Amino acid sequence: MNEYEIVLSHGRILDGCGNPWFRGDLAIHAGQIVEIAPPGTLHGKQTINVDDRYVSPGFIDIHTHSDLSLFINRRAESAVRQGATTHVIGNCGMAPAPITDEHLADMQAYWDPISGQPEITWDWRTYSQYLDALQGDGLAINVAPLAGHAALRIAVMGFEDRSPTEPELNKMKALLDETMQAGTFGLSTGLVYPPGCFAATEEIIELCKVVAKHHGIYTSHIRGERETILEAVAEAIRIGETAGLPVQVSHNAPKYGAPCDASANLRLVDEARQRGLDVTVDNDVHTDLAPTLSGGLPQELQNRPPAEIISTLQDPATRHQVREEIVADRKPAFGPSGLLKHGQWGRITILHAPRTPQAVGKTIASLASESGRDPFDVYFDLIIANGHDAVAIFDYIDETNIRLLLQHPAVMICSDGEAMAPYGFLNDPPPYSPCSYGEFPGVLERYVRDQPVLTLQEAIRKMTSFPAQRLGLADRGILKPGAKADIVVFDLERIRDRATNLYPHTYPFENYPHQYPEGIDYVFVNGVLVVDGEQHTGSLPGQVLRMGR
Ligand SMILES: [Zn+2]
Repeated sequence: MNEYEIVLSHGRILDGCGNPWFRGDLAIHAGQIVEIAPPGTLHGKQTINVDDRYVSPGFIDIHTHSDLSLFINRRAESAVRQGATTHVIGNCGMAPAPITDEHLADMQAYWDPISGQPEITWDWRTYSQYLDALQGDGLAINVAPLAGHAALRIAVMGFEDRSPTEPELNKMKALLDETMQAGTFGLSTGLVYPPGCFAATEEIIELCKVVAKHHGIYTSHIRGERETILEAVAEAIRIGETAGLPVQVSHNAPKYGAPCDASANLRLVDEARQRGLDVTVDNDVHTDLAPTLSGGLPQELQNRPPAEIISTLQDPATRHQVREEIVADRKPAFGPSGLLKHGQWGRITILHAPRTPQAVGKTIASLASESGRDPFDVYFDLIIANGHDAVAIFDYIDETNIRLLLQHPAVMICSDGEAMAPYGFLNDPPPYSPCSYGEFPGVLERYVRDQPVLTLQEAIRKMTSFPAQRLGLADRGILKPGAKADIVVFDLERIRDRATNLYPHTYPFENYPHQYPEGIDYVFVNGVLVVDGEQHTGSLPGQVLRMGR
């Protein structure tokens, strides 16, 4: 009889493909799943009786922003504790490579404030060198990288608000080709953020043709997720259709101000699929976001140095223009700005404001009524006082849309968070990012166990084999002999997301700062135990994955 390194015995095995669980033993050897057999039949040097708990592929988080935080916390605490074994990075156009010497400072400004941390050396220039640096001394989780459109633009033309010249576009294409050769899985855009929002559709199509040559995908934080959501989904589909590559629409819940619910954007996706276009979607299950207050300013203004932003807001004439620009929203700004545009000040709660601490915990609506001022003036004055340090929670998504998206077969589950830790720089000040800690357990707890929104096997499919298929990872996201042993063992009865903050908020916020979830009992990455009950083992078996290798 074979003796394997590790056997998980007496589990309820969920293969990740959407099939209902079955009882069995699963053997791990040399980083792979080597055998799955009836309960009690396999033997290992180490046998863990999982006692009828669920055994599932590790969760593949297809939309994260862990590009730099993993340098600071290689243990990937918040990710691996919630069962994520692979993070896709380079999303929303944001990637920390490639870099040109000419625009290094622009790239560092783009990643402010994390860019100043000593673990981030900025000594890479190509994407391949960045991935080597990221692999470095090890990571707790795997990483699958995307090229970022904004990074390419910054490397060639900084934050210029115009279309590239032909030589500039050719330079971007050459850098993208080199980045795809380094093993990125596709190209992402962020078309509401500077500098991505300065790009015309044609520019992206030209770049996507390079990606198509390498069989990569196109993923997009589309050009507006509110008033323009349907046009923006249509643009993403057109880019994929014209350039000839699959499309992934990122975190596609309609935000406050959208003219429709999620069934309208999903209808566009269904129609495209019926026409033979390979279009899929991801979404997370949180109804709020905590960006900086300055992130709600018009993109052109965000581009300027902090002192200039403040002087613009101090001058009554330009302040008035900024206000008009936010309301007009001509170049669609990111989702949370819809609350500013539509005067939903009661949905914006101040979380950090180091130089106006009396504002913390209050909504802009209540600050305005207390002081008898216009809410826009309260908003601008908080930015003048606190610069980029003012952060607020924006409640901007209707939960109905989250359910609609969860139930659609072409929608997978992502966090849109990043690998964090409740200690060190990544917790100073504590970020508001419940998705980074509790996305997958939260789905299992709220939308599988407590409410009949999804079956267990369908939820697991959306967290495992579906994102793996989207990326072309044939040996992950599935439990079968020969697959890599990225595995989560969880107890559905005990599972609890301890980073929740369901609307309406009361201050101080429930479960903040965040804690690790309960019920995720074992997590293996490439066959190595990383989470053992309450403990992180300190092992760093994660791999930087490169497409085609
Ligand atoms: Zn995004």
